[in-house]
Amino acid sequence: MPVRATKRGAARPPFLPGADADVLICGASFAGLTVARELRATGARVLVLDRYEIGERQTSACAAPTEWLRNMGVEASIRQTFGSLLVHTPQVAKARWTLPWTFSTFDYPSLCEGLFEQSGDAVFDTAKVEGRTGTTVHTDRGDVTAGLIVDALGWRRVLGPGANVQPPEAALSRGLEVHPNGLGADLELWIDPRYVDAGYGWSFPALDELRIGVGSFDPHDPVKQPTLRLVDDVDASPDGYQGNWIPHRLRPAAEDGVFFAGDSAGHCLPLTAEGIRMAFYFGIACGRELRAVLDGRSTRDEALASYGAFSASHRFAFECMYAAQQSIRHLHGRPLDGVTRFFTRRRVSEWAFRHYLDIAPPSYAVPSPPAARAVAAVAA
Ligand SMILES: Cc1cc2nc3c(=O)[nH]c(=O)nc-3n(C[C@H](O)[C@H](O)[C@H](O)COP(=O)(O)OP(=O)(O)OC[C@H]3O[C@@H](n4cnc5c(N)ncnc54)[C@H](O)[C@@H]3O)c2cc1C
Repeated sequence: MPVRATKRGAARPPFLPGADADVLICGASFAGLTVARELRATGARVLVLDRYEIGERQTSACAAPTEWLRNMGVEASIRQTFGSLLVHTPQVAKARWTLPWTFSTFDYPSLCEGLFEQSGDAVFDTAKVEGRTGTTVHTDRGDVTAGLIVDALGWRRVLGPGANVQPPEAALSRGLEVHPNGLGADLELWIDPRYVDAGYGWSFPALDELRIGVGSFDPHDPVKQPTLRLVDDVDASPDGYQGNWIPHRLRPAAEDGVFFAGDSAGHCLPLTAEGIRMAFYFGIACGRELRAVLDGRSTRDEALASYGAFSASHRFAFECMYAAQQSIRHLHGRPLDGVTRFFTRRRVSEWAFRHYLDIAPPSYAVPSPPAARAVAAVAA
């Protein structure tokens, strides 16, 4: 069992009575840390909470468009870069889809540390977030009150109003992968009912390790045995399991006075389950709205309305991808082979992937938020 760095026992004293912050960001992964980075120049008291230390608990294969990683200032975390996808179906042993841009796998702890280092004076602490009453968030270490609250807690959406929908009834996919040591030259995908009926398998090399897994769009379908079958077929060993539920429908990004970013708002693309770029994108949008409130340019309610509308304006793209996701189950045999071969035409794949990137283009990350203010020297 890995030993976690997360503080326990006496190292986790209760928060002081009346603990508060200007902005409370719950969740310190892709979405939460992006929001904190966006607020670095505001001078606001920003508190980021997570049940684990920053970067401690990776749950994904960690691949994202390279330009996004560069524009977020975390290129140092990149491990390997790819300009194409190698796709396998039962009849098409190898089909290479050229990308008009590159994807990179990265190191999760260094990416998270890289984002937090860019977050100015934001304070991080560990606590398990349990619920909320109005502007007060309840944690296992006591309550924290904040005028501006962000739920970046992932698919559980802990701070939403009412009962949360749980799997397998919720609109969630599921993914499981292993991380054996190994080398690979290609980002590989398997669209093959021998592994999973509605979903796909993958192998993402990251310098000295392979991230091999299977995702299913049907939350009722188990993914452990399919993952083991794929690992066996590619002659790897099943080391280091990690997995999670993955949302595949948008949910309101502003509700009951709370801002939701990343998986908590369903900001993960159906079909591809690409959620990291989307967490950056909507995390920036959320942070920009919060900045407007902190700078006195808008009220909290105006910011909630504006951010909610921005997220909802992406519904058409998400619904198109959801329709494609749902059709995968029926796309076997010759039609699947035909589509797979069609995408080997450079023009077709480049056209499709350019449109796909445009759903959340890397240019959205520039300009970066204003630099953090220099900390004033403490008077002697
Ligand atoms: C197996 C797998 C592989 C994937 N591979 C990719 C990929 O290669 N590329 C890609 O773009 N997407 C991938 N995804 C999807 C991607 O991981 C998610 O969309 C992304 O992590 C969402 O980021 P987030 O910050 O919204 O949420 P998360 O990354 O889930 O972060 C939520 C944070 O909240 C914390 N938290 C949760 N509950 C509590 C609580 N009660 N109290 C305190 N803290 C809490 C967690 O510890 C975590 O740090 C993959 C998903 C899976 C399951």
